[in-house]
Amino acid sequence: MQFGLTEEQRMIIETTRAFVENELYPHEAEVERTGHLRPDLIRELQAKAIEAGLYAANMPEEVGGAGLDTLSWLLYERELGRANYALHWTCVARPSNILLAGTAEQREKYLFPCIRGEKWDCLAMTEPGAGSDLRGMTASARREGDDWVLNGTKHFISHADLADFAIVFMASGEEDTPRGKKKLITAFFVDKGTPGFVVRDGYRNVSHRGYTNSVLDFDNVRLPASAVLGEPHKGFEVANTWLGATRLQVASTCLGRADRALQHAIHYAADRRQFGQQIGKFQGISFKLADMAMELKAAELLTWEAAWKFDQGTVTEADMAMAKLKATEVLAMIADEAIQIHGGMGLMDELPLERIWRDARVERIWEGTSEIQRHIISRELLRPLGA
Ligand SMILES: Cc1cc2nc3c(=O)[nH]c(=O)nc-3n(C[C@H](O)[C@H](O)[C@H](O)COP(=O)(O)OP(=O)(O)OC[C@H]3O[C@@H](n4cnc5c(N)ncnc54)[C@H](O)[C@@H]3O)c2cc1C
Repeated sequence: MQFGLTEEQRMIIETTRAFVENELYPHEAEVERTGHLRPDLIRELQAKAIEAGLYAANMPEEVGGAGLDTLSWLLYERELGRANYALHWTCVARPSNILLAGTAEQREKYLFPCIRGEKWDCLAMTEPGAGSDLRGMTASARREGDDWVLNGTKHFISHADLADFAIVFMASGEEDTPRGKKKLITAFFVDKGTPGFVVRDGYRNVSHRGYTNSVLDFDNVRLPASAVLGEPHKGFEVANTWLGATRLQVASTCLGRADRALQHAIHYAADRRQFGQQIGKFQGISFKLADMAMELKAAELLTWEAAWKFDQGTVTEADMAMAKLKATEVLAMIADEAIQIHGGMGLMDELPLERIWRDARVERIWEGTSEIQRHIISRELLRPLGA
């Protein structure tokens, strides 16, 4: 077992952190205040991210990405995760890995423009009636000759307002299984502007200001067979093959923000004086710091181990669920305690803490709720015993 970082990994961390601190932090207050990313700011920061070699760095080298192993990619994610989500997600975009599953033609049309920063993608699975239970989706795709016709509604779809196209999962039939009927799901590329496809404003959200969500309506949207991503009826197989590590990406961005909050708390505990001494000298404060640092390290180790196993081909669903669960819950704890250590100042928007505390909330819900992660972990424990 080896816990050291390579020289290359150290450079990735340094370069990404410098970019985040110098280019993204200065714009956080504006995005928090307006809830909006100016198009000219997006273009300016995007150009700088491309120039710095940080844009779409999650992608393999042969398609124009950085070709990082999973651990190195997650170290980069942790640094980006320190900043306002809308800023880093939009201006230093990481196109979905699922785009790699496309045909040569689909790669030309969707993948490469995303990597070059000319297009943005979004991914639509969730519906008003189907969240954790995605197989319960009712938005449908039916065949008409060689075409497919899509109907239904998706909601909570991140940055669909900005995206040029959506990767959409639709119920495309049913099959009989020993446990009853099971819905078949097909994934499609749907371009903005396709007749019958409407992207509406979604909900106002307590977390991640400037990072919008939308409602997608499909009213007899007609698509050619070439719009199918992967095989018809194999949408979840494509998602499982290409989106597995997304939970580790969520975990890593949470680790970055948790570390930012912890660093603020440590410095404040050393600077702030009450009752004639630094508040860090009170065990009520110093023990909090000890627990925060220990929990953060535990979350990091779970995430880095899962990343390492991902590249060895030995990672399990439970490994990734544990990393996501731990990192998102540790972020919530650290954000809350960092505010407590700052007293009233912790709640003021002079500091990033109230934002990190608000932003932490969504992390235990999206990419599989904490309950679903616990379900995955316990299933792996109980299944071998037939329970
Ligand atoms: C800001 C935001 C952005 C999002 N972006 C996207 C996106 O881009 N694309 C996309 O497709 N989706 C997106 N989502 C959807 C997200 O993945 C879902 O919100 C999430 O999967 C939970 O679904 P739900 O909200 O419908 O809750 P539900 O599934 O209705 O869950 C409600 C409660 O029941 C619990 N529960 C459900 N099933 C079980 C079970 N079996 N055991 C124990 N407890 C259970 C849940 O844990 C939760 O506490 C986004 C969500 C948000 C909030």
